[in-house]
Amino acid sequence: MRYFFLGIFALAQVCFPVFAQDRGDRSDLAVVSRIKTEAFENSQVMDTLEYLTDQYGPRLTLSPEWREAADWAVKRLQGYGLENVHLEKWGTPGRSWSLKKASIEMLEPRYSALVAAPLAWSDVSHGIRTADVILARYGSGRRVLDPKKAEDDLDKFMAEWKGKLKGKIILLSPVRHIDPSNKALFQRYTSQELSEMAEAPAPISKVPVDLKNLKFPETDDIQQLIQFNASLPPWVREQFRKKREALAAKRVKFFKEEGVVAIINSDQRAHDSLLFAEAAGPYDAKDTLAVPTFVVTQEQYNRIARLIDRKVPVKVRVELEAEISKDNQDAYNIVGELPGAAKKDEVIMIGGHFDSWHTGTGATDNGAGSAVVVEAVRILKALNLKLDRTVRIALWSGEEEGLLGSKAYVKEHFGDPETMERTEQHAKLSGYFNLDNGSGKIRGVYLQGNDAMRPVFDGWLSAFRDEGVSTVSIRNTGGTDHLSFDAVGLPGFQFIQDPLDYGTLTHHSDMDTYDHLQAADLMQAAAVIATVVYDAANRPEMLPRKELPKAWPKVDGPVVTSSGAN
Ligand SMILES: [Zn+2]
Repeated sequence: MRYFFLGIFALAQVCFPVFAQDRGDRSDLAVVSRIKTEAFENSQVMDTLEYLTDQYGPRLTLSPEWREAADWAVKRLQGYGLENVHLEKWGTPGRSWSLKKASIEMLEPRYSALVAAPLAWSDVSHGIRTADVILARYGSGRRVLDPKKAEDDLDKFMAEWKGKLKGKIILLSPVRHIDPSNKALFQRYTSQELSEMAEAPAPISKVPVDLKNLKFPETDDIQQLIQFNASLPPWVREQFRKKREALAAKRVKFFKEEGVVAIINSDQRAHDSLLFAEAAGPYDAKDTLAVPTFVVTQEQYNRIARLIDRKVPVKVRVELEAEISKDNQDAYNIVGELPGAAKKDEVIMIGGHFDSWHTGTGATDNGAGSAVVVEAVRILKALNLKLDRTVRIALWSGEEEGLLGSKAYVKEHFGDPETMERTEQHAKLSGYFNLDNGSGKIRGVYLQGNDAMRPVFDGWLSAFRDEGVSTVSIRNTGGTDHLSFDAVGLPGFQFIQDPLDYGTLTHHSDMDTYDHLQAADLMQAAAVIATVVYDAANRPEMLPRKELPKAWPKVDGPVVTSSGAN
């Protein structure tokens, strides 16, 4: 009897496709099964990553290395059968910087080859330079969010040290105590942690931001700082970002004009000889390049600082060679498509940033995300799956410098967050899915406050319950390229991934290499994303949207903080 009804049901699927179609947002399990097979048994994700990391990594924005890797990625996407694959210029934001040689050694009171990394866009040392080291403590060593206070700190520092830095190598940060930690470096979310994430954050009564008397949190807690920053209106954030950049350029110019030989930094994330390195200063050719700037291990930094505190002379020898363009260079995003059919003018986008910092090979940040979205479109094409809407992949550059590539792309193609003027394409983009949180497998998704997407993701992700995908969180998540879409009212989502050793070991460090990639996790992520994109491309309706954000108000003059006008 049971088989009789199943037979009738199957027959109905064939005879009455409409009946079959309306699964709501539940995936077609036959298609999911084919996608999983292709993702798990014919995976090319790790092959892609060997190229992006060992062979072409790192991929610093604007660097010739980025360009070589991008040219390879274009060929790979064309090889997978994508169309209209091209490098799309988004601006001319800065100089190219390509490291050729870097060394730093302590010569006195004892010889020690320092474990160090130069910061990106450091100027060259003009040969081998040896100099005495001095400790020029800068500010409190704590993060200062308040631009006015940061400016006061800089002015005070410049007044105190003017004329005393010529021909010196300087230390700027304080000695940092190294806390013995037995915290596991590699972790996966527990179901407890995931269920907490699935809970909506406790509503906090939105305290209107008093822009005439803005108070900044006095804390080093990065989460509190991110939350405070997120609570600020976008135009205030933008104003402060510009102010911070201007202050960084002023500080860099001061050290250069004072004749500083090099700067030695430590980093509060550093532990166990790990090096975290980003930019030394501005990269725009209109600004002065920073003097050679190095980050050393906390242990070696503390030794030098203690010696100086005890008035023991310290001599260091540095050398930094890099190919640096004199002028600003063009920057690009990598774009390609799987053309749709019935609704080919409507678009689903997936992406992640292709650029990385320069001390590792950009494996988990964000070679992993880039390779997974490349793999997802490979799977869709290899299975020749029907796609009503066009699927467009974008591999951004400039993300590490401030989501620059994705912001420029959204402004060019969809709309301007400042004016909220939108293009025709704005109505045609159904949604954007981003991957940029390390090598961990997907455990769920952040709804970015878009409640209407909950049942949609519930349906789509249900086919991966047994692969650990269980969590749909209403929360926002920040710091990466989906924000560029969200800022103009387009559905933009980032997935929840297992943390692994991303935050503890690889994120922006010299250990961001192929060896810290987890193949099984990345295969799972490719299968999940291929399925989500397939479902979104064939969904009868476009994806539900949040209320459109408002245009930025015309701000007359600086925001006044509790420490005075900015
Ligand atoms: Zn990233």
